[in-house]
Amino acid sequence: MMMEIPFLDMNRLTAPYAEELKQVCSQVIDSGRFLHGEQTSLFESELAGSVDCSNPPYCVAVSNGLDALRLSMRSWVALGMVSPGAEVIVPGNTYVASVLAITDAGLTPVLVDPEPVTMNLDPQKIEEAITPRTAAIMEVHLYGTPARHSLIANIARKHNLLIIEDNAQSIGAKEGDCHTGNMGDVAAFSFYPTKNIGALGDAGAILTHDKQVADTVRALANYGSDRRYHNIYQGFNCRMDEVQAAMLRVKLRHLVDETARRQSVAGTYEETITNPQVLKPAIISDMTQVWHQYVIRAARRDELRKYLADNGVQTDIHYATPPHLQPCFSTLNHGPLPLTELLADEVISLPIASVNTDEAGYISTLINRFE
Ligand SMILES: *Cc1c(COP(=O)(O)O)cnc(C)c1O
Repeated sequence: MMMEIPFLDMNRLTAPYAEELKQVCSQVIDSGRFLHGEQTSLFESELAGSVDCSNPPYCVAVSNGLDALRLSMRSWVALGMVSPGAEVIVPGNTYVASVLAITDAGLTPVLVDPEPVTMNLDPQKIEEAITPRTAAIMEVHLYGTPARHSLIANIARKHNLLIIEDNAQSIGAKEGDCHTGNMGDVAAFSFYPTKNIGALGDAGAILTHDKQVADTVRALANYGSDRRYHNIYQGFNCRMDEVQAAMLRVKLRHLVDETARRQSVAGTYEETITNPQVLKPAIISDMTQVWHQYVIRAARRDELRKYLADNGVQTDIHYATPPHLQPCFSTLNHGPLPLTELLADEVISLPIASVNTDEAGYISTLINRFE
């Protein structure tokens, strides 16, 4: 019998937590406190405590992942750590928000091709892209796979560069024993509803061990004020709502189970997809991958996608148009990005967030019959 499998079933994803979420939501309503309250500060300390480290980083909860990224880099500029216009090296195949954050902060994105295995930053391409104007590297942990941080950190040390992590897709992932989000000079998280931990709306956060950066991001997110009615920056309003913080505290308690579930679905795909036309994502030995997406590659991508859709299985593409080919970046300078463009033509994301291993096995069987 044919199964109908949506790419993402939000109701199925939320159902196990619905009662708990309703309960904490009414607690926030009854508290009468909707911003700057205890849910937000408890979430900040719980997120900081969730990364592997003897001394937890500072955490600032903000409105979304893009704001987490852009305020982090704006804080570097405000603190004089980075000059306006300086270059930030970023993988060409990232989500557009990574690049939007760089330009918003008044910095210059330098796009480089990823390495084929991890689909994350290629250390050699970073070295080639460094100029006297380079100030930072944006390490995006795409699809739930950590970037090669230890190699990237060596390059950063050698050239005196800062590292910002875009950890929107990889909460809970590790290289060795070190969690993503606790590797660079500052890290940005997104809690967009479809991320591995999703709010019921928009939310984000930053982690950093640099108190000045944390204080500056907090000020920038609150009209630029360091204390009430005292504005040291021309800031913004990028705060996290109490109700989202309360939801996220519930979700964070289930992160380990949620990650294990994604890992078992990815394990089924890894074991059962055998079609030689399909390149499966690499399993990387010293890394804990958290499978925000399970991204395969196929030269006949569009035909495979249509075949799966005809058989009831919805898939998605992350991302069909890379940032440098978006109209908003038509005047952006960049070198050739052949792998980024090839990936945009070949990647397919299989359902992972709301499927079980039986459904993944069924999808694999369909893929193996594709000729
Ligand atoms: C989702 C995402 C963002 C942006 O996060 P929002 O919360 O949607 O603003 C940034 N970078 C990457 C890699 C993402 O996947």
